[in-house]
Amino acid sequence: MREGMSADGEAVVAAVEAVAERIEAERDHLTQLDSAIGDADHGGNMARGWAEAVDAVADLDDPDPETVVKTVGKTLMSEVGGASGPLYGGSLAFAAAELDGGLDRESAVAFAETYLEKVQDRGDASVGDATMVDALVPAVHTFKKSVETDDLPAVEALAKAVDAAERGVAFTVPLRASKGRASYLGWRSVGHQDPGATSTLFIVEALLETAIAETGADVDPDLDATSPTIPDEDPEE
Ligand code: ADP
Ligand code: MG
Repeated sequence: MREGMSADGEAVVAAVEAVAERIEAERDHLTQLDSAIGDADHGGNMARGWAEAVDAVADLDDPDPETVVKTVGKTLMSEVGGASGPLYGGSLAFAAAELDGGLDRESAVAFAETYLEKVQDRGDASVGDATMVDALVPAVHTFKKSVETDDLPAVEALAKAVDAAERGVAFTVPLRASKGRASYLGWRSVGHQDPGATSTLFIVEALLETAIAETGADVDPDLDATSPTIPDEDPEE
């Protein structure tokens, strides 16, 4: 741990580094997806933005989770262009305030919900429009339910959110895009996986990876979002 840095702040910085690494590794993949239904800039824009975000948070002096996330959001807003820059960046910068009391399961749920709300406020996309919202809605709802209803540890809730986001990404393939650049293609967008939903999945996967590394939790990374966690009541009793 760096001198003076809170455990929470350090964990969030580690998460930012993990996301940047994953996005860089998937740069060509994201560009390929965006070249099919957009303008082939999603991989490059995201990789540049997250690399800048790593540098920006490294410059912070003893940062808390709110400051780290706010810094990432502002950096993405200025570095990632297109539709996704303001959606990712602006929503992260706004939702960061939910972490003002620190990072725990409850504040993580509030953060995820506020982030989702802001993405939908800004982009006006709903589930089924073939955007990042299609990965985000199932991920956030599954995370919230796993924490608040099933009382799962944060790492398991995140593993379930990853599975839900994967399903959301797959769901974008047969859809006709009705928001953003892909919507210009009309029916020709059918059959293509949405780049923003895909980068959202990679981000949630990197968060899970970080949470497993930080907590040392023994979690099956392939946990199924829909597997029952509350046993059925025994009819005999
Ligand atoms: P641009 O389309 O301006 O080139 P990017 O390529 O960086 O921007 O990002 C494209 C992604 O942004 C899409 O795959 C989609 O997930 C997301 N997106 C575009 N418009 C919206 C919107 N209105 N609401 C939510 N997400 C959107
Ligand atoms: Mg693009």
